[in-house]
Amino acid sequence: MAENFWETKSLSQMNEPEWESLCDGCAQCCLCKVEDADTGTVHYTDVHCRHLNAATGRCGDYDRRTTLVPDCVKLTPENLHELSWMPATCAYRLLYENKPLAAWHPLISGDPNSVHAAGISVRGRCVSEAFVHETDIIERIVHWRDKKS
Ligand code: SF4
Ligand code: SF4
Repeated sequence: MAENFWETKSLSQMNEPEWESLCDGCAQCCLCKVEDADTGTVHYTDVHCRHLNAATGRCGDYDRRTTLVPDCVKLTPENLHELSWMPATCAYRLLYENKPLAAWHPLISGDPNSVHAAGISVRGRCVSEAFVHETDIIERIVHWRDKKS
């Protein structure tokens, strides 16, 4: 990976290792979401996809994720403009919006645990959808993630 590539390359210029390393492992995008039918507002819950390893913040079957979960979105430089529901802290969203990465981002800190230490990741505060009935998910909307920046 090129040094400080996130500052010198556009999203579409990045190679695959660079692109993949932008993911900080927060796993916020792997939380189940509820959309308000009237307003279109997307609310996050504290229920995570059954394929998430909540301890590491990484997908348990990354290569097959879009096959296993049809609405799991594979991020590309071309579809970021459609993903306004992504967390404000997400590195892909930040760079798409021409904003800098946060100090806790592992590419800046050099420490993959800094996303957890900064309280950005979902680790320790979510439960797998395997243990929650589908009709109960709407009761589990959370707001802790709205305050993070
Ligand atoms: S929200 Fe962004 S940075 Fe966080 S896990 Fe998802 S893709 Fe990675
Ligand atoms: S399949 Fe993997 S990447 Fe997709 S939402 Fe589930 S845990 Fe996240």
